[in-house]
Amino acid sequence: MSIAGELRGLLGEDAVPERVPARYLVDETESRGLRGRADAVVLPRDAGQVAEAVAWCYEREVPIVPRGGGTGYAGGAVPLDGGVVVSLERLDRICSFEPLLWRLHVEAGVTTGDVRRNARESGLYYPPDPGAAEQSQIGGNVATNAGGPHAFKYGATGAWVTGLEAVVAPGEPIAVGGPFRKDVAGYDLKSLLVGSEGTLGIVTAVRLRLIPAPEAAVPVISAHASTRAGCDAVERVVGSGLAVAALEYLDAETMRLAPGPFPIPDRAFVVLAEVDGSREEVARLRAELVDVLGEHAIAVHAPETREEIDALWRWRDGVSLSVRASRGGKAGEDIVVPLERLAEAIDATAEIGRSHRLPSCSWGHAGDGNLHSNFLLAPGDADELARAGRACADLLELAVRLGGSISGEHGVGTVKAGHLASHRAAAVLGLDAAVKRAFDPKGLFNPGKKE
Ligand SMILES: Cc1cc2nc3c(=O)[nH]c(=O)nc-3n(C[C@H](O)[C@H](O)[C@H](O)COP(=O)(O)OP(=O)(O)OC[C@H]3O[C@@H](n4cnc5c(N)ncnc54)[C@H](O)[C@@H]3O)c2cc1C
Repeated sequence: MSIAGELRGLLGEDAVPERVPARYLVDETESRGLRGRADAVVLPRDAGQVAEAVAWCYEREVPIVPRGGGTGYAGGAVPLDGGVVVSLERLDRICSFEPLLWRLHVEAGVTTGDVRRNARESGLYYPPDPGAAEQSQIGGNVATNAGGPHAFKYGATGAWVTGLEAVVAPGEPIAVGGPFRKDVAGYDLKSLLVGSEGTLGIVTAVRLRLIPAPEAAVPVISAHASTRAGCDAVERVVGSGLAVAALEYLDAETMRLAPGPFPIPDRAFVVLAEVDGSREEVARLRAELVDVLGEHAIAVHAPETREEIDALWRWRDGVSLSVRASRGGKAGEDIVVPLERLAEAIDATAEIGRSHRLPSCSWGHAGDGNLHSNFLLAPGDADELARAGRACADLLELAVRLGGSISGEHGVGTVKAGHLASHRAAAVLGLDAAVKRAFDPKGLFNPGKKE
């Protein structure tokens, strides 16, 4: 019997589609030409079925590819060479919500947007805000340690996780951490699972801490004549000690391809910052931010109404898709560099694009030194795809040369596979391999990824 047939017998017909639907073979890297092949997709109803599926695969040495919302930019959820895709979308229950204790316990398939809304409806705040919140799942966010604009002040997903439930080899459910905020008993296995990209096990539930929602949050946008002037403004904000919640940049080409819902001069480099807190605090911080960003700027815009501010963040969330739409496809990497090297990395992105004859642009989480550098291409054009691959490899080298890292938030996945060795010492790579072996002795969880 086929793998799918046997799994249908084990888990029920509703949990294993007869044929693998095409959407489970791709993620956001599809326009880079990445498409996988799977023997079956499993849609477990609960953590018990995840454990049954893993145990079945582990015994028969069948690769297991965990999948969340499929919004990843690293090809992490793409099954490279057969095996079973375990998609968490039906694990979408809220296990418990205790607003008075600032705690939320959810299954892994709950979307990021639902986590944020649940918190918000009780006056609480879950700060991580990766840009595909309506599709990405909290389990996928944990597996990539997803960031987003507000990670600058509040940290990425892992900073909000107090406990995890997961299924590890050979089909064993485990729980690490819990509904408590500190835990130094034993090694920090929770943090090892955070950012592990489905290579150590499958996350089935997540315990999150929340905070009271800030009373107000207001953005300020400044336009600058050059990359250097814009990055100087970013450094001035940091150096001034202003505790901004988000500190983003968009280069002039990005602004041309994805014009914002606010007035700025043509060909300007844009900095977008936000302050939050009590109304009085926000009024004071906003005035200071306008001063700091305004110094040497060619324009400053500070939206005031709820509608303007919501439209601004909706636009920011859509920048990546607007840029991709300009040519139908894009290949990009999310390199990260020390803050003082940001301007160099932005200009070098454009230079790399020129040297490979590809239009390019970049935007990103400036305060974190995290660029989203992109090369635009026509999907299906083999020559452009090959040139984009070489351009991306140059970008990863650039990150290492500038003292940074090849990924700030999207992960290594498939698209950066083979590049870890360039910036991790042999002894560190040895520890990486030992951790992998300890969790997954047969190497069946997401093979070919994060290596
Ligand atoms: C428009 C857009 C904007 C984005 N903006 C940001 C941003 O600002 N910041 C950012 O960090 N990312 C961003 N992303 C990338 C993406 O949304 C994140 O990486 C997100 O965390 C992926 O979640 P997912 O549920 O879609 O995971 P998937 O894409 O399904 O999977 C990603 C990885 O996690 C693993 N995985 C998924 N679920 C589980 C699980 N339950 N257990 C174990 N492993 C699992 C997969 O095997 C894969 O390796 C953006 C993407 C888009 C399309």
